Amino acid sequence: MSAIHNKVIMITGASSGIGEAAAKELSSKGAKLVLAARREERLKKLQKEIEQRGGKAIYQVTDVTSYDQMEELAAKALEEYGKIDVLINNAGVMLHSFLYKKKIDEWNRMIDTNIKGVLYGIAAVLPVMRERKEGHIINVSSVAGHVVGAGSAVYAATKFAVRAISEGLRKEESLSNNIRVTIISPGAVNTELTNWITDLDLKPKIDEIYKNAIEADSIARAIVFAIEQPSDVAVNEILIRPTHQER
Ligand code: NDP
Repeated sequence: MSAIHNKVIMITGASSGIGEAAAKELSSKGAKLVLAARREERLKKLQKEIEQRGGKAIYQVTDVTSYDQMEELAAKALEEYGKIDVLINNAGVMLHSFLYKKKIDEWNRMIDTNIKGVLYGIAAVLPVMRERKEGHIINVSSVAGHVVGAGSAVYAATKFAVRAISEGLRKEESLSNNIRVTIISPGAVNTELTNWITDLDLKPKIDEIYKNAIEADSIARAIVFAIEQPSDVAVNEILIRPTHQER
């Protein structure tokens, strides 16, 4: 039986792409899921699909940019299942644009979702994980958390931040409280992520890179691998690209 069986796993950004694929993969291995995102219809549909296949999932409409809503999400998980084994901080937005275009609202959305959302997720689950001296926090960064391209300065900054936060968390919590920390850094993945880019000078270049994108279930399998390891093994980072991606 998989080590994932009966694990309570909370996933943000579960309404599409990598989060949705991870939910399906983890459910097939017997995880009890807590699905979070803003689009209720999508979450409801996914929950139903999982239940029809014999899996277990609850959902809660959650905006990760609200600390209160993240606390409510953790409270719901505890109320339903009595524990939280794994948090996957996956929700994110990638609004690439050139800096001179001053898309300040988009910068703020990326900072709020990709950095504060991750911090709020950590804050919401850390007390209960510390108390149990057990837990696993998986933060989704990116290849853009390793390399910066023209047009990706702010997005890359948020993903560098995710890696910095994860490493700080690991140093603080792994030894004393037995909490595992994993960074997942994908390259181009075929999801809805690029749909919201408004800089039309940049969009064709991004679409070109995404011609070689891999499917979201590739990333879901990497997440499964990290969770499935014995508790004394922490997979701290997985960088996973399409074979045909240079950057
Ligand atoms: P999608 O756009 O398909 O999924 C993004 C998810 O995040 C959606 O479920 C969306 O749900 C959710 N989300 C966005 N904003 C919020 C918010 N404020 N509160 C709650 N949920 C939110 O893209 P991906 O699956 O590709 O993205 C998942 C993660 O993977 C992101 O962190 C992204 O940066 C990262 N990544 C993706 C890569 C790719 O090429 N696809 C490459 C590298 C990293 P809803 O709108 O319903 O709230």
